[in-house]
Amino acid sequence: MPKRSPVSIVLTCEHAGNQVPAPLRPLFMKAGDVLNSHRGWDPGALPLARRFAAHCGVPLASTTVSRLVVEPNRSLGHKRLFSEFMATLSPTARQELIDQYWTPHRSAVEELIAKTIGSGRTVIHLSVHTFTQHFGDEVRKTDIGLLYDPRRKTERTLCSLWRDELQQLQPAWLVRRNDPYKGSSDGFTTSLRKLFSADEYLGIELEVCQKFFLDSGAEWKRILKEIPVSFTAAVEQFAAGR
Ligand SMILES: [Zn+2]
Repeated sequence: MPKRSPVSIVLTCEHAGNQVPAPLRPLFMKAGDVLNSHRGWDPGALPLARRFAAHCGVPLASTTVSRLVVEPNRSLGHKRLFSEFMATLSPTARQELIDQYWTPHRSAVEELIAKTIGSGRTVIHLSVHTFTQHFGDEVRKTDIGLLYDPRRKTERTLCSLWRDELQQLQPAWLVRRNDPYKGSSDGFTTSLRKLFSADEYLGIELEVCQKFFLDSGAEWKRILKEIPVSFTAAVEQFAAGR
């Protein structure tokens, strides 16, 4: 029988907050609404990611500076790495933002993953996000999105198991794969896939509709409690089935 490597969960939350460093605040003088909206951060992502951390017993790596300052889920050189609010900054000032807020998170997570793989384990990286229900004229119907690279069998298998677990918990939730975004688009998991093989590294993005957090009702409590449980159940099945 082939030897299976044990799995380790690595947990991140890239859009956990909408903080703006003091020197940059004048640039957002008239943009309070944007900063507080889904464009500034992922409302609800941090409390959900913390529940995952507690349930899985692993640390959480999060970034709480607004994505409108520098976007931790975009690659260097991507046209949306900086928002329009940063348009007047010099290249030097932009580089400082990268050095201060982008690189530390990306490097720390990358090093943790490399170290974990180096110790003979397979990493399951879960990046916790939320998405807005109303996007332009569109009303998104998806409740929960599981984003992954469909070319990677390991990610496909885990997300299929996770989706089944979620649907068993709550058949009314509309759980979709690679919706509202594609897991293979530019993002932290996509860049990590370039560094680590499909057997070493699984990069999954969870996207939960922000309507649950904004309602803050029974459904949100259920999400906080049950989504992490469904995840570890899927991970156990994945690990046992390899
Ligand atoms: Zn996000």
